[in-house]
Amino acid sequence: MPELPEVEVTRRGLAPRLSGRVISGVAVREPRLRWPVPRDVLALAGRTVRAIRRRGKYLLLDCGDGHLILHLGMSGSLRVLPPETPPGKHDHFDLLLGDRLLRLRDPRRFGAVLWTAGAVAAHPLLAHLGIEPLSRALTPARLHALTRGNRIAIKNFLMDGRRIVGVGNIYASESLFRSGINPRKRAGKISQQEAKKLVAAIKATLQAAIRAGGSTLRDFAGADGAAGYAQQRHYVYDRAGKNCRRCKTAIRKLLQGQRSTYFCPTCQK
Ligand SMILES: [Zn+2]
Repeated sequence: MPELPEVEVTRRGLAPRLSGRVISGVAVREPRLRWPVPRDVLALAGRTVRAIRRRGKYLLLDCGDGHLILHLGMSGSLRVLPPETPPGKHDHFDLLLGDRLLRLRDPRRFGAVLWTAGAVAAHPLLAHLGIEPLSRALTPARLHALTRGNRIAIKNFLMDGRRIVGVGNIYASESLFRSGINPRKRAGKISQQEAKKLVAAIKATLQAAIRAGGSTLRDFAGADGAAGYAQQRHYVYDRAGKNCRRCKTAIRKLLQGQRSTYFCPTCQK
């Protein structure tokens, strides 16, 4: 499933190729995505893509008088292709921009293509999203304040997108390892010092994943569309029973909120 770093890598790949271009056509081959693709998108021709931004895992194509909202869901990918490229079975949506097209491939159809003419930050899908982890808004003081009085485990706290958006299962486990915090610790018990380590770890973990994906950016326009899904070397994620890379203790796995958490019982007291 595309996580925040993959979506950011996608944004960085699309922005220089699409920004400033005029939409010349729209094709919706399958409107039954996570939500039905609204008819409004068929009338996008003539608008200019001014900028491509990201909020959480949503890509926002600023068209001046509104935004095209794209989400990759479980299995979606976006590619920039020559306009004559024949569509495959799962290529549900194309945005034609003169000599190139933006194509959404989504075999499981949990992705989204939506349009909003209103203030995009107030869109129902975006209005309740938490702090952007890579923005300056996420500071140790802010995280410390947000966690006060909170009894849920810090791992589950980090994964709640209404508080901090886009820290998925992999990045929550990895960030907690990097900051030496036990994933079961109550969020409200995190000290100021731990909040400082944790914020630095969250940003470093996400940025490392973006950098790993960035190495595939030059191939972004390629037909295989494998952008962003770079192999990464995890400290704990998916390493149950294997030796901790720091202390050689066996990595443990536990279930928290129906999700697997991986941690080192020695490094994360
Ligand atoms: Zn360890």
